Amino acid sequence: TPGGSSKVREEKIGVTVRMRPLNPKEQAMYDLIAWECLDGNTIVFKNPNQERPPTPYTFDKVFAPTCSAHKVYDEGAKDVALSALSGINATIFAYGQTSSGKTFTMRGITENAIRDIYEYIQNTPERAFILRISALEIYNETVIDLLNRESGALRLLDDPEKGTVVEKLNEKVAKDGQHLRHLIGICEAQRQIGETALNDKSSRSHQIIRLTVESSPIDSSGHLKSYVASLNFVDLAGSERISQTHTCGARLKEGNHINRSLLTLTTVIRKLSGGKRSGHIPYRDSKLTRILQSSLGGNARTAIICTISPALSHVEQTRNTLTFATSAK
Ligand code: ADP
Ligand code: MG
Repeated sequence: TPGGSSKVREEKIGVTVRMRPLNPKEQAMYDLIAWECLDGNTIVFKNPNQERPPTPYTFDKVFAPTCSAHKVYDEGAKDVALSALSGINATIFAYGQTSSGKTFTMRGITENAIRDIYEYIQNTPERAFILRISALEIYNETVIDLLNRESGALRLLDDPEKGTVVEKLNEKVAKDGQHLRHLIGICEAQRQIGETALNDKSSRSHQIIRLTVESSPIDSSGHLKSYVASLNFVDLAGSERISQTHTCGARLKEGNHINRSLLTLTTVIRKLSGGKRSGHIPYRDSKLTRILQSSLGGNARTAIICTISPALSHVEQTRNTLTFATSAK
């Protein structure tokens, strides 16, 4: 079955952390910078009064507030993004509390990835590529098409070959990079439409932009093969949506103030990175994990960029994010 492939590669999930600068509001209230990025891999809580030094957190990369979008892409997402061009499903997530920089970071990554993808296509004359885009939003376990919001709530269907598919989801062929950027702009505008009607929606909803890359050899007589792969850019709901209620299991079923998709995703990622390959991975427990199943685990490649605020006032949420990031390594 897709995603549940028996040939599991023991490829760990790439986990990086990006700290944004203090924002104007934090500066205005004289908030303090609570974290120090040490050497490109390590982040540590700054506490000069503490007798014992605090435990450092270590990741594949830690991006300080001065890091450019290009560097974050290059070192945190590029390999995973480009793997889709050689037929490997891939997913790039931004995970973190609301206002930590998820949307900002995913925009930078998408922009850089599109440039690289078209550069790769230009430099690969022996193959033909077709790029298609679809985009959806998951809000309260309801799936909405961001390329055609009018179609309402979409159902998920189980296809014997493709795995979970989103019924009636629009897919558009991108003619070139400019066209692709234009289509992504439409999705972003669509995402914002619901925003005014539903207070706080962006902190509760997940956005997936999916590029489907179809590649075939120009000269079909040779040994080159055709393949199809998905590349998913995922801007997750704010992680405070799980940590607030994380401790009281009984209330998790109440619905509205918890986020089933986010909670299930963190469980799936912990299990995938825990190396318990025989264990049950609960992909089917949420819409997000069902939709991403074939691009998460198995032979797929994953990058998680955890975004954090530097502010002392957010230290608890930041700790929660770093704890999740550690469990995903
Ligand atoms: P989220 O999507 O996690 O809620 P946003 O991406 O909307 O957060 O970021 C919140 C604000 O902080 C935005 O105004 C954004 O432009 C700014 N911001 C986020 N990350 C950075 C960064 N690395 N450098 C500069 N500004 C940033
Ligand atoms: Mg956002």
